[in-house]
Amino acid sequence: MRLLSDTNHRTKGLLFISHFSSHEKPAPPHTHEEWMRRAITEAGKAQAREEVPIGCVIVRNNKIIARGHNLRESNQDPTGHAELIAIRKAARKLGSWRLLDTVLYVTLEPCTMCMGAIILARIPTVVFGCYDPKGGAAGSLYDFSNDPRLNHCVELLPRVLESECSNLLSTFFTELRRRKQKERTP
Ligand SMILES: [Zn+2]
Repeated sequence: MRLLSDTNHRTKGLLFISHFSSHEKPAPPHTHEEWMRRAITEAGKAQAREEVPIGCVIVRNNKIIARGHNLRESNQDPTGHAELIAIRKAARKLGSWRLLDTVLYVTLEPCTMCMGAIILARIPTVVFGCYDPKGGAAGSLYDFSNDPRLNHCVELLPRVLESECSNLLSTFFTELRRRKQKERTP
């Protein structure tokens, strides 16, 4: 009996040690800038496919649960926005359409469709890089984040790594214009 209890004790000790082994320690919290960098990496994937560089990540419990980048041209899909792609993946992963306790990071202010999806998914917080004066629905053209007629409010954190996110877009469009001009010139 004594031997058994000793073994139990040792096993418990081992379990205790393994529970606190380095790979099981909770990762330190990341900053909004760090998560936005991951969204920028996603935007780079869109750019590599000659898509407008917009990227998105959805974070829950300090982990990325879904990524998305703009695929409108590749898929010829008007709804192929980075946010919508990431929202669908996140819902599949969580097995729930309610994306509670999540933060959505996107390089550009969400449009009307994406803000609609964000509200439907009950995403509590949206962090974005730069404003989109031509199509933004989180303060530019519209503000869907805090409309008392809707049943969900979204906390907004704009302008995180703003210049990097907007430079990505302006460089892309400058290059696109240059290329088109070249094609037109005989
Ligand atoms: Zn959108």
